[in-house]
Amino acid sequence: MIERGENKEYLPIEGLAAFNKVTAELLFGADNPVIKQQRLATVQGLSGTGSLRLAGAFIERYFPGAKVLISSPTWGNHKNIFNDSRVPWSEYRYYDPKTVGLDFEGMIADIKAAPEGSFVLLHGCAHNPTGIDPTPEQWEKIADVIQEKNHIPFFDVAYQGFASGSLDTDAASVRLFAARGLELLVAQSYSKNLGLYAERIGAINVVCASSDAATRVKSQLKRIARPMYSNPPIHGARIVANVVGDPALFNEWKAEMEMMAGRIKGVRQKLYDNLTATDKSGKDWSFILKQIGMFSFTGLNKAQTENMTNKWHVYMTKDGRISLAGLSLAKCEYLSDAIIDSYH
Ligand code: PMP
Repeated sequence: MIERGENKEYLPIEGLAAFNKVTAELLFGADNPVIKQQRLATVQGLSGTGSLRLAGAFIERYFPGAKVLISSPTWGNHKNIFNDSRVPWSEYRYYDPKTVGLDFEGMIADIKAAPEGSFVLLHGCAHNPTGIDPTPEQWEKIADVIQEKNHIPFFDVAYQGFASGSLDTDAASVRLFAARGLELLVAQSYSKNLGLYAERIGAINVVCASSDAATRVKSQLKRIARPMYSNPPIHGARIVANVVGDPALFNEWKAEMEMMAGRIKGVRQKLYDNLTATDKSGKDWSFILKQIGMFSFTGLNKAQTENMTNKWHVYMTKDGRISLAGLSLAKCEYLSDAIIDSYH
């Protein structure tokens, strides 16, 4: 960077132009009409959290009284973000403990029952904490009810590329909604997929009905950002722009992501194989394989997670979530024995 003469002057309020361009293209695809028609307002944010917080302030200011619907359960910080933004929120059903899968009927019913024009927060891929994503057919149905009710989809994309190993596959949910011509919001994070946790690099994207609306939305997002933090940090933005802008680095990144996602899938398979080989109760463990991303819901309740910790010294969150990124193939058998013992 020194050789290139790059300095540490302030960025504009909306962030690094080269970053904003590539982040939008990674999300929507460079040829997407929302980009071609300039219907997109992209503002660099302080990673996923800061981008969600900007959106929270935007909703509070321009949609007074509008509610954000969040999945039950969801990433713990969502509630804090909307509380501090003074945006009312309520939950829609998502996790079904009976199947350790998606409560699709409950989800659809709750989205339908919400007041018209609510914001529906959706995890673009690799739902945290459950690891349970809707199927492409279910995404279509979710889009149908959102459209019917004039709701506004609001995506949190914290794991693009990290779920399936493909940036495009993991953005399919967002692109499906954009292709319907809906106005929508997307918060992005590069913490996980580029390992840039401490750089605080991400973006808030607002797809608008017209380029004129996008210009005005961007201007209002800047008005919100200015008194909050003035302007965002440059280092992480340059890293993302440089990686994506250099074909060799971009390919290296994509290959590494594929490897990471592949390793996690391998760990899932091994854990499933151990569980089915050892457990004689007839329990269906296929939910382990159906889930995606670094997190997995084991279906263990609080008392069972305590058995995991006290007897087996497996430390995990009390909601039954484990991180597969921290699990080696060599430890799958031990973990599977611990899970079976705690279940029964
Ligand atoms: N959304 C979800 C669903 C997450 O899991 C995370 C990180 N744990 C974030 C947003 C934000 O992370 P960051 O602020 O580091 O980008």
